Amino acid sequence: MALTGLDIFKLLPKTNCGECGVPTCMAFAMKLAAKNAELAACPYASDEAKAKIGAASKPPMRLVKIGPADCEVAVGNETVMFRHEKTFVHPTAFAVSFSDGQSAEELAHLTADVREYCLERVGEELRLELALVENTTGEVAPFVAAVKAVASGTGRGVILQSSNPAALEAALQALEGQRPLIHAATPENVDALAALALKYKAPLAARANSLDALAALTARLAELGVQDIVLDLSAGNVAATLQMNTVARKAALKNSFEPMGYPVLNFVTGQRLPDLVADAATLICKYANILVVDSLAYQALLPMMMLRQNIYTDPQKPIQVEPKVYPIGEADENSPVLVTTNFSLTYFIVSGEVENSGVPAHLVIVECEGMSVLTAWAAGKFSGEKIAAFIKSSGLEQQVKTRRLIIPGYVAQISGELEESLSGWEIVVGPQEASDLASFMKMQVAAVA
Ligand code: SF4
Repeated sequence: MALTGLDIFKLLPKTNCGECGVPTCMAFAMKLAAKNAELAACPYASDEAKAKIGAASKPPMRLVKIGPADCEVAVGNETVMFRHEKTFVHPTAFAVSFSDGQSAEELAHLTADVREYCLERVGEELRLELALVENTTGEVAPFVAAVKAVASGTGRGVILQSSNPAALEAALQALEGQRPLIHAATPENVDALAALALKYKAPLAARANSLDALAALTARLAELGVQDIVLDLSAGNVAATLQMNTVARKAALKNSFEPMGYPVLNFVTGQRLPDLVADAATLICKYANILVVDSLAYQALLPMMMLRQNIYTDPQKPIQVEPKVYPIGEADENSPVLVTTNFSLTYFIVSGEVENSGVPAHLVIVECEGMSVLTAWAAGKFSGEKIAAFIKSSGLEQQVKTRRLIIPGYVAQISGELEESLSGWEIVVGPQEASDLASFMKMQVAAVA
């Protein structure tokens, strides 16, 4: 049963020591009630508090880990229906499907593509996380051979999909210790697959014809001792899948209905590319924790990767880069110096345009809590005084002879204040748009020469 903030407060030490990161026990109790904190943050909680609050603050959706330690994928543990309420936590894992009917050459070629796929965007490397192997032959030996080839070829955690328990057990033996996800327990095979999951300490997907039957199935799995469960909610079409995902998420998060308190797996396979992308986009938004695809086409993966990155970015924390001085190209002591904020998008756009100009430069990135230029200026984080203090503490003045600092055109108004705070420097107002930087940099070089 859910405890209120007051119920929780009664169980806390009430010393208001602040070691949990908030000033009072009451404030901490309110955070616990909202599932925005963990009891472990209070070092003085009694055993009684741990027993009572621990059970009440259990996450409404279990965190399930798949794959070996060096490429483990964690899914679940989500606490909100809508990203703007707080944030989504563990990004949808993309699983590429293979079959034991594919030739060894084909598997070698495609698994290398999965291993090597990497999209770099705003400082993050976006990759494919999982590989699914389907036992289309229904036989043991080809399945085990394909599973081994896919696991070693992709270097990723594996989902084992078979209706043959003997094939699953042989594959689990081949991947001993690698925590593959077993797919899938059904009302018909539940006891046999639960036994495999427990024996090999592997997570287990569950599938049934309706949500009611699935709830009964996961309740049975829990009774048998299986804790790491994934719900396969794939229906015949994306509208039905979306509806089931939403109902399951709401049941887990809003109604604390434990049989639905697990991450969700969806398939978007066997479709034309545009349909695959459209369905994948829908299910990334709501609420696939694992999405199985059967295409490695870049025109499909690119939008999926970008959407996932955007959806799973914490809306309260802009993506930031480390504040410091970044050399661009072969920057030396005579190279121009530019300054901007540590909002990732700003950094990557500005550094890209400067790089494209072919003019080596030093780019000073000031700590602005990840805000863009105008927002940071309006919040007082990108003032002349702050920029000057950052430049003085960065050691830049010892690295360069240049004493010309290019500031973003949108904050031309800080040039006077900056010149006063940074004695000996000439402040040059750059363009407002980053797209004009390349020509501006060339003109700067020509002017200095
Ligand atoms: S650490 Fe524990 S005792 Fe101290 S203020 Fe937080 S909840 Fe209260």
